[in-house]
Amino acid sequence: MDNHAMEPGADDDDDVFVFPPEVLQAINEENQRSLIVKLLNPKIQKSREISVALPKAWRFTGSVRSMTLVYNSEVKFIFESESDLLWVLDQGPWTFKDWMLVIDRFTERENPDFLRFVSFWVDMFGIPWDYRHSEVIKEIGSLLGQVLEIDNQGPVVRARIRIDVVSKDLDFVRRVIFGRYAEPVEVRFVYEKLKMFCQACGSLTHHKALCPRPRTNRV
Ligand SMILES: [Zn+2]
Repeated sequence: MDNHAMEPGADDDDDVFVFPPEVLQAINEENQRSLIVKLLNPKIQKSREISVALPKAWRFTGSVRSMTLVYNSEVKFIFESESDLLWVLDQGPWTFKDWMLVIDRFTERENPDFLRFVSFWVDMFGIPWDYRHSEVIKEIGSLLGQVLEIDNQGPVVRARIRIDVVSKDLDFVRRVIFGRYAEPVEVRFVYEKLKMFCQACGSLTHHKALCPRPRTNRV
């Protein structure tokens, strides 16, 4: 019985199949044009449904294919065009069945931040007009995460902020003191495109009815 290939240390060259580099090159190029979508609430969001629904939402039905990597958790979407992929990242965050999704490039999967961050546009209410300045907005935004962009021109102060949604819960209000002797001011945050979240703890992964750690004084 010829089973020596199963033995540790077998080094018979006949047992090794080397893939042609051009095949691997094509696969690598496809990976460059791929996104991973993480479903934050698998009780509601199902991988089979999202594989159909997301390309429709993106309007790329004919030019995106998908494969489920982790059941009801991670789905890979392969784009024909990298510009379509970049459009999806820019237009986010995305939701499915009213719960948030985390989306990263497939090629980022070795990064420790992989599938942990969502870049929200956050509206800020309560900053006194005297201090409505990009430095103030940046400082307050950095209480939530990494500030990527500030919009201080319209009637609503906004900042795009990269927020860790896996190890932190969303903050909806912070008390800020402008000046040493001033009274604290409540600055409230509204997350654009955010729909469902746990109203007890601020998590994006479960409904309030299933909250394992209520935090009733924060929301
Ligand atoms: Zn909760």
